[in-house]
Amino acid sequence: MASWEHACPICKTKFTYSLIPDTLESYFFPIKPHLPDEGIEFECPNCGHSSKYQQADLTFKA
Ligand SMILES: [Zn+2]
Repeated sequence: MASWEHACPICKTKFTYSLIPDTLESYFFPIKPHLPDEGIEFECPNCGHSSKYQQADLTFKA
């Protein structure tokens, strides 16, 4: 299943923000999830570093 990922700025570990349903439409025209303008805070599952992420930080993983 495709997903949106964040990468930790410290250890570069990638972790999943959300899964994308396996439909052709979402595969070819993936729409980024809406994140609040101020960003959203996540804790890295690898190193525990908390960082704020913006919508632009999301990367598509097929
Ligand atoms: Zn990390």
